[in-house]
Amino acid sequence: MKRLLPLPLLALAAPHADAQATNPPLPPCTHEDRAAQVDPAGDGRFTVLDTVMRLPEDFVPSGLVPLREAGFADDRLVRDVIIPDLTALREAAERDAIALEIFSAYRSYAYQAETFAYWVNVQGEEAARATSARPGHSEHQLGTAIDVGTAGGPAPWDLDDWALTPEGAWMQTNAWRYGFVLSYPRDSRDVTCYAYEPWHWRWVGQEMAATIREAGVPPRVYLWHARTTMALEDPHDP
Ligand SMILES: [Zn+2]
Repeated sequence: MKRLLPLPLLALAAPHADAQATNPPLPPCTHEDRAAQVDPAGDGRFTVLDTVMRLPEDFVPSGLVPLREAGFADDRLVRDVIIPDLTALREAAERDAIALEIFSAYRSYAYQAETFAYWVNVQGEEAARATSARPGHSEHQLGTAIDVGTAGGPAPWDLDDWALTPEGAWMQTNAWRYGFVLSYPRDSRDVTCYAYEPWHWRWVGQEMAATIREAGVPPRVYLWHARTTMALEDPHDP
C-alpha cells in the first residue's frame, strides 16, 4: 500500500507563498495528448486524466465485471477492485431509503472515439471539447469511474443540479466513506478542466478518499501533487 501524503497537500487549500513554492505547478487545462503515467497502485487510483493526459488506445483495465456483482440490475462493466466498496455504498444508501442507479461505467477508447466524433460532427470540434472528453482522456476508461443518478429517475445531467436531489445529496455526504470522490466539483473548472458534474464519481479507495476530503481540493489537484511527490521519494514502489 502506497503511503499517503496529506500534510503538504493540506497547504494547497490555502494559497500561501510557501505552499506554492514547495509544490510543483498544476498543468493548465490545455488540449494535449501526453501519456498518463503508469499507475503504481495497479488499480488506476493514482492516474491523472484530464484534457492533457490520456490513456493509450490499447489500455483496457484488468478485471472488468458487470455492475450486477455490486447488486445493481445492470450488466455494464467496472473493475472488480471497486465491487466491495460499491456494494457497501449501495447497501448503505438503501438503508437510508436512497435508491441509486448507475448511468455510465467503463467506456473503452473506441467508444470514446465514436462518441467524440459524433459530437464533433454535430457541434464542431471546439464545442465538442467543452462537453465531451477526447478519446483516452476519460476517467471512465479506467473502469473505476461511474456516473450515478436516481434509480428510475431522469439522467442526472438532465437536471439543473443532481446534488440537490435526496440521492445526489446523499452521495455528496457519504460517497467518500466508500472510497468515491467527485472528480469535477462545482466552481473548480480552472483546476479540474471540466464543468461541474455532480454525477461523476471516481473510486480511489477509502483511505485516499478520506485524505482528499480532508485536503479540501479536487482529486486532480491531490493526484497531481501526490504523484509528483511520490515519484521523487519512492520511485520503485510497486
Ligand atoms: Zn462520468
